[in-house]
Amino acid sequence: MTDEHTDFTKTTVRTFGPRGSPVFEQEEKTTDLDDLTERVEQTAVPFCTCGAPISGSGDVYRCCDCELICCTRCEIRLSRQHVCPLCARRRFDMDKRTFLTLVFLQHETMTFADLFDVTTQAGEITAVDIDAVANTVVKQGYLADDGTLSDRGREALHVGHQLYGADTDVQSVLDQLRVKAVAEQKR
Ligand SMILES: [Zn+2]
Ligand SMILES: [Zn+2]
Repeated sequence: MTDEHTDFTKTTVRTFGPRGSPVFEQEEKTTDLDDLTERVEQTAVPFCTCGAPISGSGDVYRCCDCELICCTRCEIRLSRQHVCPLCARRRFDMDKRTFLTLVFLQHETMTFADLFDVTTQAGEITAVDIDAVANTVVKQGYLADDGTLSDRGREALHVGHQLYGADTDVQSVLDQLRVKAVAEQKR
């Protein structure tokens, strides 16, 4: 609920319904402070789960998993489907670490074996510590038999870019990889 005061009127805005719901409604009550008459106006404004109002002119996407609506900034495009960030994360078991792992695997600065911590004693393997990300990579089938990213892995990478590509820490990692790739080309 937000209040706005001027010398002559007091406006109270109340909202109903969850974000992402197309039936999200807003009620605006304006009170004339002179004669105390009230005017109530109700509007149905859809809001994205990120809190951005979706105006009539803008494109609206409905997540095909949870059916919530999302704005152009949030929607994640998957071949011919649109999903919201929450469902995209769920579908792909995606978090920032998993995304960066896929980036490193794609740039070959890391191999799948690096996700395992193998302890050997006198040449015998005594313990294998499997990283949580390795579990995701195996479970989701992100790697092809030759150790490169599978189609599903590339799709996950694309989703990760949309989810985390704007984060400054991710950008600095991507920049470093770019610089490294250019340096290697020059050699
Ligand atoms: Zn969704
Ligand atoms: Zn949004």
